[in-house]
Amino acid sequence: METIKLAHGNGGEENNKLISEVFYKAFENEILAKSEDAAIIEDGKLAFSTDSFTVSPLFFNGANIGKLAICGTCNDLAMMGAKPKYLTCSVIIEEGFSVKDLKTIVASMKEELEKNGAIVVSGDTKVMPKGTIDKIIINTTGIGEITKANISSNNITTEDIILVNRDIGAHGATIFTAREGIDMSSSLQSDCASLYPVVKALIDANINITALRDATRGGVSAVLNEWSKQSNICVEVEEDTIPVSDEVNGVCEMLGFEPTALANEGTFVLAINKADKDKALEILKKFNQNATIIGKVTSQYPQKVVLNSAYGTSRFLDTPTGELLPRIC
Ligand code: MG
Repeated sequence: METIKLAHGNGGEENNKLISEVFYKAFENEILAKSEDAAIIEDGKLAFSTDSFTVSPLFFNGANIGKLAICGTCNDLAMMGAKPKYLTCSVIIEEGFSVKDLKTIVASMKEELEKNGAIVVSGDTKVMPKGTIDKIIINTTGIGEITKANISSNNITTEDIILVNRDIGAHGATIFTAREGIDMSSSLQSDCASLYPVVKALIDANINITALRDATRGGVSAVLNEWSKQSNICVEVEEDTIPVSDEVNGVCEMLGFEPTALANEGTFVLAINKADKDKALEILKKFNQNATIIGKVTSQYPQKVVLNSAYGTSRFLDTPTGELLPRIC
């Protein structure tokens, strides 16, 4: 690894290697080592997370970079059982950028903050000379108050069952078609959404949640592989139970991608105690009818994800590699 390649930002194998060899090595500490969606600090009282947004194009069906910048950070807090509360907003803008577009982006941020009951309390604005950055980059950092403790990707056991809250891959497929100028049916739109309301509903119903993770870069496949390693388990997924829309399937055929490797921005994977599966599913379906159980946890191949096909064959589902789609978020 001598220079940074686009693949180093893919949310998959190369990205993991860069993070562990450069950042984890230098910043090593107990909190960071947990590799959760947000750091748990102050004796488990607060969750703390940051994310930068470089998506291209800035506006796409279902959202824009502003909505994404709030959902991304707030969702990482929600995945730790935290209520998003305080955010910072740091913006780097290219000289010549339209003020009207900036106002539209900021209005989307405000709207999404309200869905989370969160506020921006600090920020920074920098302008770079024309041509030195591409339009705008937004960073948000957030603090959330933990409302359910001990949600962790390191604690999953064979007592858990694996669910998703909706059909997968919509964000990745939408960005791809927007970028390539492919005119798909208008029903293809990013899943970009704030997940705190659905997480709150699960917590309020006392669902026994073991782990939650939003399937952003690297998709569902990256989440399941991270979990299998972090919890030293085997996740067995039934391929035909994974919900994928016809539009997303169509884009995957064009791209030669697996829907499980496509990015999402309002889709999360849940590991919950088996005993609560019906109750959890009932709640999830109130938010999206496509919520479903996709698999179980076994000890068959520790640290591996197994995909069982409808035809009775099985294969390992690996962490995505290669460039995938750069600048997806
Ligand atoms: Mg996340």
